[in-house]
Amino acid sequence: MVRAVEVRRRDVVVVEGGRGGERPLPLRNQGEYLLNAMKIESVERRGKQLALIGKGRGGERALIVHLGMSGQLFCVPPGDHLPEASHVHVMWRLDSGARLVFRDPRRFGGVWSLPGRAALAARWAELGPDALTIEAEELGKRLTGTKRAIKSALLDQSVLAGVGNIYADESLFLAGIAPAARASDLSAADVVRLAEAIHAVLNRAIAAGGSSLAGGSYVNADRKPGSYQRAHAVYGRSGEKCLMCSRTLRAAQISGRTTVWCPRCQVMP
Ligand SMILES: [Zn+2]
Repeated sequence: MVRAVEVRRRDVVVVEGGRGGERPLPLRNQGEYLLNAMKIESVERRGKQLALIGKGRGGERALIVHLGMSGQLFCVPPGDHLPEASHVHVMWRLDSGARLVFRDPRRFGGVWSLPGRAALAARWAELGPDALTIEAEELGKRLTGTKRAIKSALLDQSVLAGVGNIYADESLFLAGIAPAARASDLSAADVVRLAEAIHAVLNRAIAAGGSSLAGGSYVNADRKPGSYQRAHAVYGRSGEKCLMCSRTLRAAQISGRTTVWCPRCQVMP
């Protein structure tokens, strides 16, 4: 149950109206848009988006929390001090005494308040299948129609949801596919290897608590940094030697994102 909501920066919250129009969080009665006096019924995830579903006397509300590049959503146990008070934008006080905190130094993330589950489903219909569970056949269907570089297709959340820059590079390395390869040129066998690589990379990253980069601020819900950055084979290693073949890793911009690959291990189909 949410006892109180404290909003320190209104501009990180967007309210979606009944007809899909978006507006900033109103000055008054902010809590009603942010689950105040509601019971948090479930926490759901699709790709890189997290949603809190709340229910109360006033009806239902769904909050999408997007962490962006530097956002954090974590829980502060009852009685504990708030570790970093700076850049805390929204804080939910729960009846257990715990606080749920949204903090985002660079403010690429944010909170979207939707009227309920139906609005959330409509919003998530724009996303592709979740990367953790997408099957090779489905991935193949979604790639055949696009001549874009496979790296660009993987970053497109409407193709599949949940792969960002780090995990796109790591998956393509593991699958042995050059990031500049045309998505539509991949063979069925390439797609099977790629789907397996995406699942393996994401599962390992989750087991390691994610990737916390130098200068970044990623922490998990318990406020602990991840350790997967130590296992990166290519991301952030441009100019260093490939762990498999010792060739120097190369870097280029694809879709405006720095892309690192091994010119020997990763081939064009
Ligand atoms: Zn190599």
